Amino acid sequence: MSAETLKKGTCPVCGHMCFVIAHIENGRVVKVEPDRESPLGHLCIRGVNAVEYHRHPKRLNYPMKRAGARGEAKWTRISWEQAMDEIATKLKDIRDRYGPEAVLVLGGSPHGFGDPASWKWCNLWGTPNFFHLGKNCGEAEFPVECAMYGYDTIAAYTRFLNPKKTGVLVIWGANPAESLPRLWQGYKYSQSQGMKIIVVDPRPTECARAANLWLQLRPGTDGALALGMLNVILSEGIYDREFVEKWCTGFEELKALARQYPPERVSQITWVPAERVAEAARLYAKAPAAVLTWGVANTHLGDGAGLSAVLGKCWLRAITGNLDREGGQLFSDPPDFLAFLEEIDWDRQIHHPLRTRDNVSADRIPIGSVRALALYKEAMKRVYPKGWGAAQYFIYPSPHAVWEAILTGKPYPIKAAFVQGTNTLCSMGDARHAYQALKSKNMELLVFMDHFLNPTGALADYVLPATDALERPTLTNNWGMTGSVHGREAVVPPLHERKDDYQLWCDLGKRLGQAEHWPDTLEGWFDKLLEPAGVRFREFAQGPGYSPPHRSRRYEKTGFATFSGKVELMPGLLKKLGYDPAAGYREPPWSPISAPDMAERFPLILISGSRVQEFHHSSHRQLERIRKRYPDPLLEINPETAARLGLAEGDWAWIETPMGRMKQKVRLIAGMPPSVVHADGYWWFPEKPEAEPSLFGVWESNIDAIVPDAPGFSDYAGNSYFRGLLCRVYKSETP
Ligand code: SF4
Repeated sequence: MSAETLKKGTCPVCGHMCFVIAHIENGRVVKVEPDRESPLGHLCIRGVNAVEYHRHPKRLNYPMKRAGARGEAKWTRISWEQAMDEIATKLKDIRDRYGPEAVLVLGGSPHGFGDPASWKWCNLWGTPNFFHLGKNCGEAEFPVECAMYGYDTIAAYTRFLNPKKTGVLVIWGANPAESLPRLWQGYKYSQSQGMKIIVVDPRPTECARAANLWLQLRPGTDGALALGMLNVILSEGIYDREFVEKWCTGFEELKALARQYPPERVSQITWVPAERVAEAARLYAKAPAAVLTWGVANTHLGDGAGLSAVLGKCWLRAITGNLDREGGQLFSDPPDFLAFLEEIDWDRQIHHPLRTRDNVSADRIPIGSVRALALYKEAMKRVYPKGWGAAQYFIYPSPHAVWEAILTGKPYPIKAAFVQGTNTLCSMGDARHAYQALKSKNMELLVFMDHFLNPTGALADYVLPATDALERPTLTNNWGMTGSVHGREAVVPPLHERKDDYQLWCDLGKRLGQAEHWPDTLEGWFDKLLEPAGVRFREFAQGPGYSPPHRSRRYEKTGFATFSGKVELMPGLLKKLGYDPAAGYREPPWSPISAPDMAERFPLILISGSRVQEFHHSSHRQLERIRKRYPDPLLEINPETAARLGLAEGDWAWIETPMGRMKQKVRLIAGMPPSVVHADGYWWFPEKPEAEPSLFGVWESNIDAIVPDAPGFSDYAGNSYFRGLLCRVYKSETP
């Protein structure tokens, strides 16, 4: 038996890429622990299963080709060469018949720079039809932030906060106790040192219970609440006058809008007592510096309600002078350390010689389009000549439009799709629409690549096995959203025939006339990306990584990265794209106010789409210890409401919307509003049969199949409507 060796590596379990020390014996990883010397060193309750994840018996290990009908669970093992040759040949044929835009690329949890490699490939190929899991994960806040003040404020959310500098933290639309537990521990420490925490959330989450001030609002009314707080701040004159006068445009329009939302009116809309609205406004505005988080929930509120919530949060940050202020919403640096934007090359997409059409939803949802991408680049170029780090968020189409293009050929056909590191049927609303499209005969080529087969992959023509972060080098720069860069080498060679996500795009690119753009290996690409830093990847991976120094108030030298150089409270860019930023609060499409007739039949308000610590979205349900902790999908309900419906803790209950019904297990939650229920999202059952009709039990508890994703329901960026819709709940006699 060889002696145990220790190697610095990366946790393989999810895309957060925490750094670990791997114990290796006889060439096998036998144990993983957090790298306590690195600021990225961490091992959460999912990460402790790293060894099981790496060697799990259900991991995909070889390329496979469909041998029966889609979803029949019949596969033939083939070589990588055969898979790449056949896929490339089919792609060429589809491009000849329908144009490059007929290829769709869907990404998800990153398995090693797979997303940036796929964006680069799309730009070289000429398709604007791609999105990754960020599509329903809060990305829609970023284009609005960029339109208003020329950068996103995500960096302020993902940093630990110094209570000497940050007086108030507002957690709005997020639940870091579940989604980012380590960050939440840091927040609690800062709170113990004097920082105040305000939480905006309908649910009595751990964060809400720990808050200094909890605003328990009616689901979907976030925009009204923000306008109510703005009303108080403006009428009491407690905004940052100097900043507003010098750096903001559109202030009079904002004042006129906010005047319509006095706290008493807002209280009627939101259920939050008027004095609490005012108290929160004063606490936030009077803090010497404050952070108001980015939040996934605000982009799940449906048509109208979503945009008012996101704009409202941006306005609050701006008029209180918290933008790029020390202790406030610090902007991050563009990714200059890496040749990230140069390698992805968004200009190639904008000017692609073969691309003749914008993405399939550009007319209806212009905030995600090639046109928008070009406009943002133009607006930001004075400050960021190379563009904004995460430019991909300006171009994503709406999922609904993508499925329609496959099914109807309108506005033009989509004929091929890649699904990489994601499970579309368990991460987008109206999952049956996605299912019909992916299963359709119109779909001539469906390629899936991941660690495990899932319900979406079960419909594929080709299934490809991906390496995990123990068996490939890693480089992380948060999708270009922060200037920091960290990397680690692989600790063991790939098991079986697993390959890096990068290799899919590289191998196809070489067969499709893109050879000069693709270094042979992922490490070779990292070397190229690191050229501006003058360091090779292997050397870089031995060091601590790169974190740019914190800077603030850089706008004093450069102005803001908008057309006017100022914070545009009524963003000209949104107006150019056809949005009305002064429209004010609108009710969610299916609320007791907007749809009172429906509310008689569906009297409860449904929230879904939240995270729990045990799972990263739809992943990790194969892991034994995780499933012991969290075996079933849970429906949270107020105990009195449950009793009225004849439900007890542990019963199975149907959750029904006008789109159908799903079953989950009852969990009684004291403090939940009596008319609100919360259902777990993303559920499927890896232990159930793969072959249809089961498809890993995807139609049993998957809330995504009964929430809308369609025009009139989806928000301004085409995100699914997961929160604040109507449902009814009743007992199921069987689990
Ligand atoms: S599972 Fe994800 S968050 Fe947890 S330690 Fe691993 S990489 Fe980090």
